[in-house]
Amino acid sequence: MTTHDSVKAAPTAPAATSASAPFSALTLNPAVLANLAQLGYLSMTPIQQMSLPAALAGKDLIAQAQTGSGKTAAFALALLDKLNPRRFAVQALVLCPTRELADQVTIEIRRLARSEENIKVVTLCGGVALRGQRASLEHGAHIVVGTPGRVMDHLARGYLSLEALNTLVLDEADRMLDMGFMEDIVTVTKQCPKERQTLLFSATYPEGIEKLAQQFMRDPLQIKVNAKPAENLIEERFYEVTRPTRFAVVAQLLNHFRPISTLAFCNTKQQCKELVTSLQEQGFSALALYGELEQRERDQVLAQFSNRSCSVLVATDVASRGLDITQLEAVINVDITPDPEVHVHRIGRTGRAGESGLALSLAALYEMGAVGKIEQYQHRASVWHPLEELTPTGHGPLQPPMVTLQILGGRKEKIRPGDVLGALTADAGYAREQIGKINVTEFTTFVAVQRDIAQQAMQKLNAGKVKGKSVRVRIL
Ligand code: AMP
Repeated sequence: MTTHDSVKAAPTAPAATSASAPFSALTLNPAVLANLAQLGYLSMTPIQQMSLPAALAGKDLIAQAQTGSGKTAAFALALLDKLNPRRFAVQALVLCPTRELADQVTIEIRRLARSEENIKVVTLCGGVALRGQRASLEHGAHIVVGTPGRVMDHLARGYLSLEALNTLVLDEADRMLDMGFMEDIVTVTKQCPKERQTLLFSATYPEGIEKLAQQFMRDPLQIKVNAKPAENLIEERFYEVTRPTRFAVVAQLLNHFRPISTLAFCNTKQQCKELVTSLQEQGFSALALYGELEQRERDQVLAQFSNRSCSVLVATDVASRGLDITQLEAVINVDITPDPEVHVHRIGRTGRAGESGLALSLAALYEMGAVGKIEQYQHRASVWHPLEELTPTGHGPLQPPMVTLQILGGRKEKIRPGDVLGALTADAGYAREQIGKINVTEFTTFVAVQRDIAQQAMQKLNAGKVKGKSVRVRIL
């Protein structure tokens, strides 16, 4: 890693050698290390191992890494390390291609920043009124996360100043270029001070990225992580509970870890129903999945969970069979299953495709026998954590990023996903990034839209046409 290399001959970081490098190997302050341990980040993922030492030393980076590799923490820890909370000015800017990603990045930065008091992170994305965002900026923001177009808007109007910026992050840069944001990125970058660190993350390395790097980066270190899934990214934790406190602990886990999607397993249908009622009463977005649901109800529940408009799915083992959800941040074993094979199956649903995942198990004294069987089966001792470590982050239960609209009409009416997308983008004028998954079932269609446009999108669809016909739409 010399400082004389040009971009073309950018040096490559050494391959990560050990699968379990602790964060304590880095020059992070003890409060940050303690917070990482609380979050269940025990060792660095390969991208973190390769990028953090250089990033913390202030080097520019071009890192090729996929979502799920832990890249957000890689840049977030670097930008937080340089941040001065007592200086009320924007010191770091993260540009993301979509609102959904910007929301996820914001959540992750807030979690990593909570060892410091009062670090303000503001999200600036399109589709939301400028006024509220302007007010948030006026109240003081240390970190801005946003999409290039909207960030540019705020700069042009003078609501946002980047004079005090010291870290610029381009996240999923290849996707931003695909979406036509090149010019906006250039405009925004030109308004950043020259003396700054630039961290660029991208799954691929197309020509446009090289151009950006040549224009805006200084001797960047190039890092590439093999796409091979990380070995065991499932972090398993056990908590001791009693029968009467079990449900309250589930809520505490959700408020502490704030996973965007959680699958919670109960041993019985009755337990599922009771837990969902209790979670809903506390304001969580939770739904139940058990046998005996009609196909229609099951489709609806699965659509809402898989499109990220419901945060917690409470299910029995049988009902969850065949469920294929790729993005699942956490699994909670509300009850310990007596069958260790089922346990391994349950927790294996998170940590897929190289993404890390949390497996949290609640056990009362009368379940310790079952825990023992699980230990024997997995050839490892269970790791117990005290309930006291569960402290809420953020205000109240996490709101899912999306909302589901249900269109009364499906395959029978020959509706295809493209028709719905067209009605929302071409006709209603929304950006592709504001629309999520579209599921067309026999009689009905579910489309996820970003939470802030849900009401208006429903009205627009109700007033407009899908496939040349008027449709009835409601919010689920
Ligand atoms: P990302 O690739 O940034 O989207 O991160 C994927 C997931 O991994 C997120 O849910 C993070 O909270 C989690 N994560 C990031 N770093 C670590 C780590 N070192 N150990 C465990 N989980 C992590």
